[in-house]
Amino acid sequence: AKDRGLGLIEVFDDDASSRSLDRLGLRSDLLGALEREQFALNFQPICDLRSGQVVAFEALLRWTHPQRGPVPPDVFIPLAEETGAIVPIGHWVLEQACRELARWGLHGGPRVRVNVNLSPVQLQQPNLARGLLDIVRQSGVDPGDVCLEVTEHSYLREDVTESAAVLRSAGLHFALDDFGTSYSSLNYLKWFPIDHLKVDRSFVGGVAASDTDRGIVRAVLAIAESLRLGVIAEGVETEEQRAALLDLGCVWGQGNLLSTPLTPDAALDLLTGARHS
Ligand code: C2E
Ligand code: CA
Ligand code: CA
Ligand code: CA
Repeated sequence: AKDRGLGLIEVFDDDASSRSLDRLGLRSDLLGALEREQFALNFQPICDLRSGQVVAFEALLRWTHPQRGPVPPDVFIPLAEETGAIVPIGHWVLEQACRELARWGLHGGPRVRVNVNLSPVQLQQPNLARGLLDIVRQSGVDPGDVCLEVTEHSYLREDVTESAAVLRSAGLHFALDDFGTSYSSLNYLKWFPIDHLKVDRSFVGGVAASDTDRGIVRAVLAIAESLRLGVIAEGVETEEQRAALLDLGCVWGQGNLLSTPLTPDAALDLLTGARHS
């Protein structure tokens, strides 16, 4: 152990401590990442599983650290949530996603939607609806072409559901992400204006091989049908999974079988049918 004089003790032979110091370094680097333009968005197609036709793109945030290179979102998003940096970052994501959607339209792409992830920390912000609506309206895209993906981990206070109702009545849609992985899923359906369910890839992974997973997906589809919600299967990786999902009546999917996340230009090429030589 070595005292660096900052009140921090570095323990070079202890994995857990060096990992937490690593997190501290990343956390402070994150604070300047937005103004240093270290973020980018990738767009993963959400497709009709029958035809492969793209109906939407999910915006996925990428951070390239100047020294460490790409840092996975599962690492930096929780850090950005701890510091509150996720709020301005989340605004930037929505702004960029809407800007790309508008640009694709100008280049003659077919009409598609864009899905943007909303952190539970963003959901708890006062003035949530106002901030997000301003961004969507300034971009000029139809609010009905924007879908906000929320997870089941956020505590639903009354003001949160009120903000959501304001956004919903302005035309935005909501998708419940990672559906089935949390105990509060059904409560969310009761109190939140949800339009689509995204079946978590932990169930999609076994849909062809496991009776349990297939049973769970079938049950999700039944809930969705009775509440008139759309269902998107996440993490579709194989033809067997695609066939099993179609067999159950699940029409929309996302995953590496259909396409990995794309740069904005590659997404435009996909939409306009452009080919690179
Ligand atoms: P998520 O919202 O569930 O996003 C789907 C994740 O699954 C993405 O990981 C995507 O690249 C990955 N994925 C897609 N198809 C497949 C597949 O066939 N197989 C497998 N194994 N994985 C697949 P990614 O991009 O690493 O993002 C991880 C998580 O980080 C996201 O999970 C989301 O919770 C969070 N995240 C990403 N971008 C944002 C953002 O802009 N804002 C917020 N708040 N969270 C974000
Ligand atoms: Ca998502
Ligand atoms: Ca998900
Ligand atoms: Ca997730």
